[in-house]
This record gives sequence, C-alpha cells and structure tokens, in this order.
Amino acid sequence: MKNYKELDRKYITNTYARFDVLFTHGKGSLLYDDEGQEYIDMGSGIAVNTFGFADEAWQEAVISQAKSLQHTSNLYYSLPQIELAELLCEKTGMKNVFFANSGAEANECAIKAARKYSSDKYGSEANRNVIISLKNSFHGRTLTTLSATGQEDFHKHFHPFTEGFLYAEVGSIQDIEQLLENNSVCAILLELVQGEGGIYTLEKEYVKALAQLCEDKDILLIVDEIQTGNGRTGSLYAYMQYDIMPDILTTAKGLGGGLPIGCCLFGEKTEAVMSAGSHGSTFGGNPVCCAAALSVLSRIDESLLAEVREKSEYIKKELLTCKKVKSVSGLGLMLGVECEKEGREIVETCLKRGVVALTAKNKLRLLPALNIPMSVLEKAVQIIKEEIDS
Ligand SMILES: *Cc1c(COP(=O)(O)O)cnc(C)c1O
Repeated sequence: MKNYKELDRKYITNTYARFDVLFTHGKGSLLYDDEGQEYIDMGSGIAVNTFGFADEAWQEAVISQAKSLQHTSNLYYSLPQIELAELLCEKTGMKNVFFANSGAEANECAIKAARKYSSDKYGSEANRNVIISLKNSFHGRTLTTLSATGQEDFHKHFHPFTEGFLYAEVGSIQDIEQLLENNSVCAILLELVQGEGGIYTLEKEYVKALAQLCEDKDILLIVDEIQTGNGRTGSLYAYMQYDIMPDILTTAKGLGGGLPIGCCLFGEKTEAVMSAGSHGSTFGGNPVCCAAALSVLSRIDESLLAEVREKSEYIKKELLTCKKVKSVSGLGLMLGVECEKEGREIVETCLKRGVVALTAKNKLRLLPALNIPMSVLEKAVQIIKEEIDS
C-alpha cells in the first residue's frame, strides 16, 4: 500500500501541523481511519459537520442537486440560492444575503459594505472608514481579515496589511469610546464567543452597550457568526441570546454541513449598500452548497436547539467534576476547557483512545455535531475526563 502520509508531506504545502491520522469514512458522530480504528468525533471538522458524517437528508439534498445542476454562474437566477436566502432572512430578520465560499470571504464582503455605507452617506473625503475589532479576535486568513484579527501574532511576515483597523480591549466600553473620538470609525466587528481566541464569551451587558453606542453614532455593528452560527451556541445565531440586532451578520462553517459556503447578511440599514458591480464571486452561492445549506438550516429547529443546550449542560457538569479542570467556557456546543495540562497534550492522548477533539489557544475545544447521540457523547466525555485528570 502507498505511504499516503509521506506523499502528503511531499506534495502538499506545509501549512498544517497534521495529527498522525488519516480518516477514510464516517457515519453520524463516528469516524474511521485507514487502519479501521473507530473514533468519536467531538470537533465536526472545525464546527462544520453540523449533522455529523454522511447524514442521510444532507446527502440526499447534495446528490439530487449535483445530478440536476451543479453550477450556472451568478449571471443567472438560481433556485437553491433563492430558497436559502429567503429562509435565512425569514429566520434572522435580516433583509438580503450575499453568498461567498468561506468565512473570510463573508467578512471581506462585510468590510467592503461597511466602508461603502459610510462613504455613500458621509462622502469619501470624510475618511470615515476605520473598523474597530476586538483584541483576541479571529476573522480569517486573507490579508484584510488578518488585519481585522486582533492578535499581534497574525500581523507578521506579510506586510503591508490592509489599513484601517483598530483594536479594542474586550469588555471595555471606555476603550471603544476613546477609539471613536476622531470620527473615523464606520463599523465595529466582533465575535460573540471568540472561538480561535480561546472560547471567550462576551458579556451581555457589554455587547448591549456596544450596540447602543453603534446606533447612537450611526456606526455599523458587524457580528461574525462564522463559528457561533447555525445552532452551534444553542440558538440559531448567537446574537439572538444578546438582545441585539446586527447591521451585518456573517456566517459560514456549519451552514453547509461540510460543503463550502459563506454568507454576508444585510439588515435594514445596510440592505441597499451593495449594488450591481460592487462585489461578486464565481463560485459564491454554488447550487450544490446552497442545497446542502438549505437542508441544514431547515432542520435547526427549537427541539434541536433545546437538545444542544441540554448536551451543553451535561458536558459542563461532567467536566467540572474533574480535579484538573480550571474552567469551562462557551455557549451551547461550543465549549472551551481550561485544564492543568495543555489542550494539545489532551487532544493527542484522546486521539489515541479514539476521541477526536480540538484546541483553542491552550484550552481543549469541543464542537461535536449538534445531533450527536447522548450515548455516544457520554462515552466521549468519559474518555476526555480520564485524559484530563490522568
Ligand atoms: C473560521 C473563522 C473564520 C474564517 O473562516 P474560513 O472559512 O476559514 O475563511 C472567520 N471568523 C471566525 C469567527 C471563524 O471562526
């Protein structure tokens, strides 16, 4: 048999520190590697496989769309796009959707739109084009979304980055007010639970105050729900737990259930900002990806969300009984576990015992499929607890 891992190292650009495992297939929340070992999946890719692997309704939606029409270009109308956009708007109260292929691209669209909103309204000579993001945030890997990312570590090697970003201390309204002083800010961009930053949940009072400040000063509130969206946090979108309404909402990861799709949703203030020619994408809103997303989104109902919240409580309660757990953070099935050991070490030993988990900074990060069966979850949590305390 070919040595696939060696071929990977030879032929694939070395941008990932891969774990020593090659998965070949999966079913539900179970995964299998090339040696036939079974694993319980507690990562969903990275919050992508909302309904696990080889989910039947999802497969059916993807296959039947692939059989009829795989792509037409955005020069023409597209049924799966229209149906998905309508459902997204109905479920969120947003007004329209731009379809992209990834999270970073959805944020690129949001950033362009925020700047256009301000230059349309205040004139480009006003230079009202700065976007505030939060320290410790993550918004993507393109040069502009790296700029938007509020972590020094991401601002190396690739200079010059896109200008026009300022970073505020999480939790400090005062810090934001100071950054607003010279009237150059057009938007504030934030994650409600900072994912890559270590599963850090923003306080409701802080977010509400921020949203009020945005409204008072006609600054757009852009909520990045690329990771927190699509049921992950126990509500359809996390903003629904914060009593706020974003002016622009971005989402991606879990929406396509495993196929690439990103969305930038526009609200009342921003619905007419983008016009023909101001943005576009060859693959954005691909029919197969939209059919997949439609299957996912139409099944995230109140009963599934209640299940997400129950499983979340179960995991938190169990992990907090571990002697070596310092804290459990996050919302719904987006959880971060701070342990005495480094997250990476726990992930390595869990993998050996057949549980696939993730890290966020030094924490262990858990993002299981929303429909993971309780008995499977119990088994995984037991193993994780043993590895945390060992
Ligand atoms: C993953 C992520 C992104 C980037 O998404 P890609 O699809 O990898 O481009 C942006 N923002 C947040 C909050 C994310 O979690």
